[in-house]
Amino acid sequence: MAPPAVLIPAATLDAFVAGIFREAGCDAAEAGRISSHLLGANLAGHDSHGVARVPRYVEWLKAGYVLAGQTAEAVTDGGCFALLDGKFGFGQTVAPQAVALGIERAKQHGIAVVGLRNAGHIGRVGEYAETAIAHGLISVHFVNVAGSVLVAPFGGTERRFSTAPFSVGVPLPGRPLVLDFATSLVAEGKVLVASNGGKALPHDALIEPDGTLSGDPHTLYGPYDQVGPRNPSNGAGAIRAFGEHKGSGLAFMCEMLAGALTGGGTSGPIEARGRIANGMLSFYVSPAHFGTRAEFEATGRAYVDWVLACNPAAAGQAVLAPGDKEAATRADRLAHGVPLQPDTWEGIVQTGRALGLSPPG
Ligand code: NAD
Repeated sequence: MAPPAVLIPAATLDAFVAGIFREAGCDAAEAGRISSHLLGANLAGHDSHGVARVPRYVEWLKAGYVLAGQTAEAVTDGGCFALLDGKFGFGQTVAPQAVALGIERAKQHGIAVVGLRNAGHIGRVGEYAETAIAHGLISVHFVNVAGSVLVAPFGGTERRFSTAPFSVGVPLPGRPLVLDFATSLVAEGKVLVASNGGKALPHDALIEPDGTLSGDPHTLYGPYDQVGPRNPSNGAGAIRAFGEHKGSGLAFMCEMLAGALTGGGTSGPIEARGRIANGMLSFYVSPAHFGTRAEFEATGRAYVDWVLACNPAAAGQAVLAPGDKEAATRADRLAHGVPLQPDTWEGIVQTGRALGLSPPG
């Protein structure tokens, strides 16, 4: 049974986390971007990609795995397509730069393809789809984590893929759609939460080397103390790809497009690379340039309404569109505060104290 959560107002959490990154060596703008992105993941309900990451991000910065103050550099620029190198800068800095370029070029040409490699952890990918939506653009994002091998392919028991997320954003007026998920059956953060006594994993989320399905975090982390670090390289098993052969195939393509094509590398062994980094291949489409914007918006909107009018399978549980759950959680958490597990909050407070910051009173 998980202990009751601590409720922190969003603005208080944002200010404290931004202060941590300023003290850790980021300039104010970068510290604010990292903080608002992590907080945004909590507000969307994706706590595995939220402020719980603060201690790890600060450790990565100290160790030089991720660098402050980087600007993504153009490797290739073909007008409607480009490849950027993030130079291991914070994902919350270099990914928005890649997204801004994609938006600018799609507004110019109607379509743009932008690759980004060697980015620090870019966090919740749906945020980048939301940025494109705010500019009236459809976007599709294939992402991998070069050097992070955690997920077994369909039919296999050994780790071959990263948790390789995928996201699509669709800008219907007043009714945006944001599909955003990891291609693993559960994100690694959810295994971490379960290992800390939080929400249990589905019984078939993991797989042992002999092919037995498991919901026990030890399958991924091996032996561990209740309080203390978790290291996926200590476990013998793997997380399973979601959606059987279909989800496994999507993960495969994320590695191909975001890893191999960008030149950032696939989910190979970390020993060979020294650090992990996100790669992302993004496609941006402008419905206005496509010439069907009015039909797209009217037909798309009518279709959403028709799908959501479907009879629910379980009484009282309405059919939802991609992004609805996140929007509802955001509204609730902005109004009532962000719930954090006490250990998560304590970890952030300790990181702040080590940098000379007092926690908010
Ligand atoms: P998830 O399993 O919660 O799935 C989220 C998606 O499913 C959303 O599009 C959501 O709107 C939709 N959804 C949820 N409930 C629904 C319902 N009842 N009906 C219809 N649609 C519903 O997400 P996840 O796989 O745990 O991923 C969490 C986050 O982790 C994502 O934001 C992802 O980008 C991020 N991630 C990042 C990395 C990285 O390396 N940067 C790696 C893995 C995951």
